[in-house]
Parts: sequence; C-alpha cells; structure tokens
Amino acid sequence: MLVVEDDPAIGSELVEALASNGYQAVLATTGGEALERVRDGVPDLVLLDLGLPDIDGVTVCRRLRTTLPFTVIVVLTARSQEFEVVVALDAGADDYLTKPFRLTELLARLRAHLRRQTSPQEERSLSVGLLRLDLPARRAYVAGEELALRPKEFDLLAALASHAGEVVTREQLMDDVWDANWFGPTKTLDVHVFALRRKLTEHGEDPQRITTLRGRGYRYEIDV
Ligand code: CA
Repeated sequence: MLVVEDDPAIGSELVEALASNGYQAVLATTGGEALERVRDGVPDLVLLDLGLPDIDGVTVCRRLRTTLPFTVIVVLTARSQEFEVVVALDAGADDYLTKPFRLTELLARLRAHLRRQTSPQEERSLSVGLLRLDLPARRAYVAGEELALRPKEFDLLAALASHAGEVVTREQLMDDVWDANWFGPTKTLDVHVFALRRKLTEHGEDPQRITTLRGRGYRYEIDV
C-alpha cells in the first residue's frame, strides 16, 4: 500500500494506523516520489492526497492509473478541494474521502476495496503451485484433482492463496472468512488450516505450502 501525503505528521500517522491494522504501507511525501515508488513495485492500493506540493494530485492519479490498471486509488481531499474529486474520479480514482475522516471509516473502505480488487481474469481463477482455484464455481484442484472442501475451508484457501507470498493476519482471516464482528477465541482458524494442509498434501501438494507465523497469521508460499 502506498500513502501519498505531503503533511509528514498526517502521513506517518496514517502509515502507523495502517500498520497496526495489518497493512504494510510506505509513505511518499510528493507526487514525484509516489510515481518513483511505483516503479519498484505495484501497490494493491494507493491513498492519494490531492493537495501535493509538486505535481497536482489529479495528474498524479492519472499517471498512476496509466501504469497501474488494477491498483485501487482512494483520493484524500480537503473540504476546500471538493470540486477536484469529480476530476479525480474521471482521472481513474476509485473512491475518495474528505478530510478530516475517521480512521474506522477509512479502514472499512479499504477492506471493501481490497476484497473486490482483482483483475477480471484473476477473479475467475487463481493458480499457485499445484493449486488451481475456480472462484466463481468455488472449486479447488491440486494437480488437476478436485479437493473436497467445506465452504469455510474453500473461503480460507481462497483468502490465503489470493495473497500468496504475503502474511495474512489472523484478524484479517477471521474478518474475511468468518464474520466481520467475530470476537473471542480463534482456534477454529487453526483447525481449518490444519484440515486444509492435510487435504492439500493428500493430493501431492507440499506440506510447507502454508506457513504458520505464530500469533500473527499464515502465509501461502509461492515457492516451497
Ligand atoms: Ca496536502
């Protein structure tokens, strides 16, 4: 995730708040720096302040959209710049928030966007290692053989595999797979991961494919 905000206090506060909610974010304080950053790696989401000192936010948005067709762009705007929102949406932004906004609202928007954010092709099928997921049909195959999965097991596998190579936190998994309002013990998550691992290995997948990060979450490995 990339945060583009020229006010260093707001910027670092945002990055910290995102980090404590399980999102890895880097900060760029100018439009130029933002455009520079995305040359090194494609962020899944960009939070873009429209009032930037060097290049105007709408131009940054348009340039980002050209190089990053599948990245979610959420623009942040001051009340006095509200007219720019329409222009930014035309320039390819997906959503906007008017400052000051509540962190809970920002997080809710991000969650919704990240859930939806996949290219049309990725939306249909997903392949990692020997695994292939047919998402619309909710079917999972390992080396061409279909796995018999319970609904929650399929959701969990999809949540992990769609973030292959990244840590998915326990909180994120509980939110995405079980209920946004879950509370209490999360042992059910470990039980489901255990079952998934067994079913995957039975069909020839590597037992190291799902890595446990004790107390933090799980990672579906791209290479094992
Ligand atoms: Ca600003």
